[in-house]
Amino acid sequence: QGRSVVGGGNTEWGLTGPLFLPQVMLGGAWFTQAFGDPAAVTPATLLQRAQAAAQEQLGLAVAPARSILLLLQACIPQYTLGHWQRMERISRFLAEQRLPLSLVGASYAGVSVNDCIASAKAAVEQLLGG
Ligand SMILES: Cc1cc2nc3c(=O)[nH]c(=O)nc-3n(C[C@H](O)[C@H](O)[C@H](O)COP(=O)(O)OP(=O)(O)OC[C@H]3O[C@@H](n4cnc5c(N)ncnc54)[C@H](O)[C@@H]3O)c2cc1C
Repeated sequence: QGRSVVGGGNTEWGLTGPLFLPQVMLGGAWFTQAFGDPAAVTPATLLQRAQAAAQEQLGLAVAPARSILLLLQACIPQYTLGHWQRMERISRFLAEQRLPLSLVGASYAGVSVNDCIASAKAAVEQLLGG
């Protein structure tokens, strides 16, 4: 999974621009299968795989001027098989039972910040009777 940012700099990492900042997220639930033990995998292995993905998926032929690697374990929820059907059942149940409960956040209807904001807005509108 990747995304790209084109900009004039990045204060968080002390970079000055103009910049093209592709970001690659690797692994998830398949991390161990793909790379082995997170504690034992070398940064070079992960960087090489990230660069190959950026080359293949974004068409980036040039090597990066600088790479930053962060290994974050268990940081983004990944839905298990049947998640959306389960969510439908839960929503139906909450409506049928008229339970005063809103499920909002990355565990339910999309992990991106945008998804979380959208589901929060929808929940508030529903609470306000919209
Ligand atoms: C490294 C990383 C990079 C990401 N990059 C992007 C990106 O580029 N674009 C994008 O769209 N999304 C990105 N995401 C995903 C997105 O940031 C998260 O999915 C989203 O912020 C989750 O929002 P949330 O409100 O569900 O949970 P959180 O933002 O985790 O909020 C939950 C809050 O509840 C608090 N809390 C927990 N337990 C309790 C408790 N018992 N009592 C009271 N408070 C409690 C926590 O302290 C926290 O403040 C990224 C996530 C990570 C981890």
